[in-house]
Amino acid sequence: MKITNIYPLVVNGSRFSNYIFVIAETDQGVLGFGDATLDGMEKEVCAAIESFAGRVIGKDVEKDAISVENRAGGLVTSAAASGIDMAVWDLKGKAFGLPVYKMLGGAYRTEIKVYASFNRLIRDRSPEGFGRMAEQLKAAGNTAFKCHPFDGVDWRTPGPGQRVLVDRGCERFIAMRQAVGDECDVALDAHWRLDMPTARYIADRVRPYRPFWLETPIPEKKPELLAQVRAQIGIPLAGGEMQTRPDEILPLLQQQCLDVYMPDVRYCGGITGIMKMVHLLETFDVLISPHNMCTAVSCAASMHVCAAIRSFYHMEYHPEESEWVHDLTDTHFKAENGFFKLSDKPGLGVELNIEEAKKHPYQPPQPLRANMLGA
Ligand SMILES: [Mg+2]
Repeated sequence: MKITNIYPLVVNGSRFSNYIFVIAETDQGVLGFGDATLDGMEKEVCAAIESFAGRVIGKDVEKDAISVENRAGGLVTSAAASGIDMAVWDLKGKAFGLPVYKMLGGAYRTEIKVYASFNRLIRDRSPEGFGRMAEQLKAAGNTAFKCHPFDGVDWRTPGPGQRVLVDRGCERFIAMRQAVGDECDVALDAHWRLDMPTARYIADRVRPYRPFWLETPIPEKKPELLAQVRAQIGIPLAGGEMQTRPDEILPLLQQQCLDVYMPDVRYCGGITGIMKMVHLLETFDVLISPHNMCTAVSCAASMHVCAAIRSFYHMEYHPEESEWVHDLTDTHFKAENGFFKLSDKPGLGVELNIEEAKKHPYQPPQPLRANMLGA
């Protein structure tokens, strides 16, 4: 089975996002699918996919090692390489008749524990709104939840207004905990927007409500400072969603900055790249909880990886953000008592409905609110 073409397809996914699917064609008519979504960088990622295509076209899916390793680093080329890598794994699985997790050596688990991250979904940003959203998601089969409650908070604009915003954020988180009860897990993400004193203040306020973690409180470019935050706040720290290569995550590991690492299969080289990251992380005895906020294709890729990670914690997902997202693929994942079921279909197990996807071309996204950068 030889790859004859590989190309991107940009699809409007929600009011905030355009997805970048990767489609690989073969001489046997079998298609492989990947996800290279990088918000706001659609043109750049598509150009990078086209520039990588020559490394893939003409390769024999069953016999050839197919590498799109992104030696240059950077999110644009990493997203492109990641999407291509996923499509290649999808094709290899289909060629060999194996689901990806079996090609990774087998599963520690076939039911993947998930948490619902609802930052983009929620429109009512009052504390009561956060509580209601968590309640609705709990009723729909979820047992763990994460939000970014700190609207407008930014360490670069200190002042009394910031203290009001910080308190409001804490109230949103507390409302979420009170809505779902102690039998559920709740966490909060700060999107690198705090300074150290604010991280400590927030930790003191939310610690009685037992978040499973505080995510990315301060910029990760300062691992020594992050290590101090971890030592002082008494809440597990999570991060590492934007690092694209093992050598970028190594300084965080060496400084013991985080309890939980969150590599993203869309940013760190696809399935090939994330497994390299996983092998490094596992040598440091840390928990791994993949960052995952996009299409059913990358969600499936993340799930196959999660199945094959020994020190797996749980996986992020974003509940549907638009009415048409279900039309784009033949498979959708729904939490049942807090778990997604892994597919045993060959490859990733998700087919893109190309004709349906083409009905939703690129749309300029609504500007992200200041609170919604990242996920
Ligand atoms: Mg995050």
